[in-house]
Amino acid sequence: MEIKNLQEDVEKLMKIVNDKHGFPYPNIMSIMKAYEELGELTQLIIESTIKTRKGDILKTEEIKDDIGDELADISIVIMGLANDYNVDLEKHIDKKMQKHKSRWDKV
Ligand SMILES: [Mg+2]
Repeated sequence: MEIKNLQEDVEKLMKIVNDKHGFPYPNIMSIMKAYEELGELTQLIIESTIKTRKGDILKTEEIKDDIGDELADISIVIMGLANDYNVDLEKHIDKKMQKHKSRWDKV
């Protein structure tokens, strides 16, 4: 699925959330939610790093799945913010990737 389609799905989801709240979900709440999700991802990575250092056998697929879920949560919040500002996220990611590529091509 393309980012544009995902942004449309997030837009539909946010409409449901907004309708149930009775008011638009404020952008500042989206920023706070992004930090919350980033915190959850950070916690998972810290825990898996500590377990690895202690020599525990990690359930790699389980951790990978949990990390994937948190990355998805973060992405959904980011897409919601992009929608709030009518940002074509794919276009901006492409633009930034070109910039990073040209920078690293020079190194
Ligand atoms: Mg989460």
